[in-house]
Parts: sequence; structure tokens; C-alpha cells
Amino acid sequence: MSAANSQDTLSNKKLHSFLSWVEEKNPGEIEFIQAVRELSEVVIPYIQENPRYEKMKILDRMVEPERIIIFRVPWMDDKGNYHVNRGYRVQMNSALGPYKGGLRFHPSVNLSILKFLAFEQTFKNSLTTLPLGSGKGGSDFDPKAKSDAEVMRFCQSFMTELSRHIGSSSDVPAGDIGVGTREIGYMFGHYRRLINRFEGVFTGKSLKWGGSYIRPEATGYGCVYFSDEVLSHHQNGLAGKEAIISGSGNVAQYTAEKLIELKAKVLTLSDSQGYIYDPDGIDTEKLSFVKDLKNLRRGRIREDAEKYPRSQFVAGRRPWEVPCDLAYPSATQNELNLEDAKELLKNKCLGVFEGANMPVTLEATSYLQEHGVIFAPGKASNAGGVATSGLEMSQNSQRLSWKREEVDKYLRSIMINIHKECVLYGPRTHKGVVNYLRGANIAGFVKVAEAMLEQGLT
Ligand code: NDP
Repeated sequence: MSAANSQDTLSNKKLHSFLSWVEEKNPGEIEFIQAVRELSEVVIPYIQENPRYEKMKILDRMVEPERIIIFRVPWMDDKGNYHVNRGYRVQMNSALGPYKGGLRFHPSVNLSILKFLAFEQTFKNSLTTLPLGSGKGGSDFDPKAKSDAEVMRFCQSFMTELSRHIGSSSDVPAGDIGVGTREIGYMFGHYRRLINRFEGVFTGKSLKWGGSYIRPEATGYGCVYFSDEVLSHHQNGLAGKEAIISGSGNVAQYTAEKLIELKAKVLTLSDSQGYIYDPDGIDTEKLSFVKDLKNLRRGRIREDAEKYPRSQFVAGRRPWEVPCDLAYPSATQNELNLEDAKELLKNKCLGVFEGANMPVTLEATSYLQEHGVIFAPGKASNAGGVATSGLEMSQNSQRLSWKREEVDKYLRSIMINIHKECVLYGPRTHKGVVNYLRGANIAGFVKVAEAMLEQGLT
């Protein structure tokens, strides 16, 4: 057996026993185990080449959250009925800075989902090169079809407990699915009242009271900036490309906006009920209808097809069946599976750029990579949101507000730098495409690992 083969066998054994140990310790946590598997497949062989990480049990410590807080959230609806939901905050890793990561309000929220998101956040935040630790939180509360007053009462109750565990230097939450400017406003307002301090404890705040320019746009814009870098690196470009996007929330809207600006044609958007396909392309005017529909009227995406005769609504399906050059899954985890990946390849899709967190299943990811489709993992391609949150924290500390162009320039340079890091650690595959999955995982891992080594046994 050659030295390389015996190294591979050793790595496989280590991977297998490590994952068995993680599964045993976290029974039934499917999404969390999936996220750990995705990273470990790449990082364990790297650790074999760098044994100091193994001796100090760096990866074993990384998969164990520093702290998890679970709490009851009682609240009252407009009719006076009592309700109770469960609140969470997973404080994953603070080796690089205060815990940082969003809050998600969605009925599917459970510990496994939040641990996977917090784990992903560790490496994503590291890739930004900003001083950000990792965390994630939220609740199984569903803000859909609730009145503003109900959402406010829920947010206040949620914050009554969470306020004991966060702070501008310890843990700084932001938004995620179901948590936008409205929810952040209610939570921040209640925090300020409870703590009697106006401090930068949230990011994604309104511009009127401490928010940053470009933060709402940052995840979507950043994802497009990243894909622009990727395409140029592979001697290609965005202009004239046909793109499909899933979701119609924050990430999807601003991905569409930047793609339109950079002259790509956006064909689809979706929500949990189905997708719209507009063969003429969704232009700026149509996109502003969607923004108004989703952000202000809190309507459904099918209404787009009611307004624009050429737009078709396809109920109960996801957009991956629509032929495209580029795909931007920007709704939720595991929304693009192996069958979808096959469909994308059949339609000659060039690249898949994760706007959401882990929207592509492990099988689909491997399939895309094996067949030479560029795959950009969310921890790299959607890191623009948290990077701009980091910039919001800096502005809050300085008690300054930077100009829109200044923040946008920073965002773009951070995405370019993340791309460089991915290329550095992710050699081209046999199909001549950079292995962004490997690059992002190793580059993200190394920085946190080094910080943990230097800080001793924590
Ligand atoms: P929003 O709540 O603004 O939008 C979510 C969108 O996804 C909505 O269109 C929603 O449809 C759809 N969606 C949610 N759950 C499902 C589901 N189970 N099946 C089908 N569609 C679904 O969230 P964001 O845009 O902020 O977040 C989207 C993704 O991006 C998430 O994975 C999030 O973690 C990730 N992300 C977000 C960042 C940010 O800055 N906001 C930063 C980095 C990553 P419906 O309205 O019908 O529920």
C-alpha cells in the first residue's frame, strides 16, 4: 500500500469513528450531524497532516457548544388566549469574538437545526476575518398570519429571558428566517428597557437607530459578489446569464436585485407554497412588487403571477426544474436534493451558489462536484450578511455611521478575500473547477483552530 493510500485509510477510519461519536452524543440531531459530516470529511484528512490539532482535540471541542440556553416563551394572542413556545440560544464558539449569529422564528425550529446553524456560523464568521464568534438561536414560533401586536408580545417575552444571556461584548444576535427589521425592533426595544442601556446588542437594526447601510442587502449582494468572483476565476461572467433563485425573503430579494444590476436575467423566486417563473425575467419594477408583497403586505409569491400575466405560478414545487446557467438556493436547508442536482446538470447549469445555509444536501453536493458544476458552500457565499453585521458592530462601538458606498466597498472586498482563501485551500478538481467546499471548510477551520490552540484548554 502506498503512503498516500494508507493515509487515506487512516483518515477514513478516523472520520468514521469521529462521526459515530458525534451521532452517539447527539442522537436524532439529523441536521447537526449532516453539517458536522460535511466539514469533517474535509477537515479530518487535513488534521491528519497537522497532528497538533488532533492532540489538542480541536475538532472534538468545536462540535460541543460552549453553552446552550433553552427557555419557555409564554405569550398572549389578540383574543386573550395563552400560548407557549420554546426559545433557544446556542452559544457555539467564542474563540474569535462575541457569539454572533441570527435568530430564527419558524415552526420547524429545534435544537438540531440551531446547532447546525451555529456550527456553520463558526467557520463562516472565521472566513470573514472579522472578530466574530458564533451562535444561533430562535424559537418554534410562527410569525406568519400574526398581528403586529402579537409579534410584539412574543418578541418581548422572548427577550425577557434572552436579555440575561446577551450583550454587546458577549453575544450579538441578528435576524434570520422569520426575523426581520420588525422583530429586531421589538426585541431591541425591550432589551433596552430591561437593561437600561442603549448598546449595539443586535445587528440588522433599523438605520434610524444604529443600523448599518447595506446590512439588509448584504447576504444577497455578497452572494452575487462571490459568484461574480467565482465566474471570473473560471473565465466566465455574470452578464447575460440566466439565474434561478429560491425563496423570496431577505436573501432572495437582494440576490435578485444585484443580479439584475449586473445584467443577469432572474427567472424564478419562490416561497413555501411554490415558485414563480417569469420567462421575460424579473426586472427592477417586478422585484419591487415582490418586496412590497413580502415585506409590507406579508403576502404569498403566487400573487406575482396574478399581477404579471407572463409570470407562471407552479404550486408545491421548487424551481430547480427550470433550465438555467446559475442557481441560487436562498430559502432554507436541504431544499435542493440529488434529483434536483441531476436536473440542473441535465439543463447545463454552470454553478450553484448557496444563499441559504446548507440548502444543498450532501448527496447533491457530491453529485454536482463530481460532474464539474461549480459549488459554492453557504459558509463562503452567504458570509456577506454576517460580515456586514461585523461592520455594524464596529460602527456602533465608534458611535458612527459609515456611508453606504463605504460599507458596500468593504463588503465586496471581504467577499473577494473569502474567494481568495477558498482558492488557496481548495485545489481544482479533476474537472478543472476550484473545490470551494474544501477551500471554505479548511480556511474557516484553521483560523478558529489556531485561536483555540493559543487560548489553551477552553
Ligand atoms: P426570510 O424569512 O426573509 O425568507 C425565507 C424565505 O424562504 C421565504 O420566502 C420563505 O417562504 C422561504 N422558506 C422558508 N422556509 C421554507 C421551507 N421550509 N420550504 C420552502 N420555502 C421556505 O429569511 P432569509 O432570507 O433571511 O433567510 C433565508 C436563508 O438564508 C436561511 O437559510 C438563512 O439561514 C440564510 N441566511 C440568511 C442571512 C440573512 O442575513 N438574512 C445570512 C446568511 C444566511 P415562506 O414565506 O412561505 O415561509
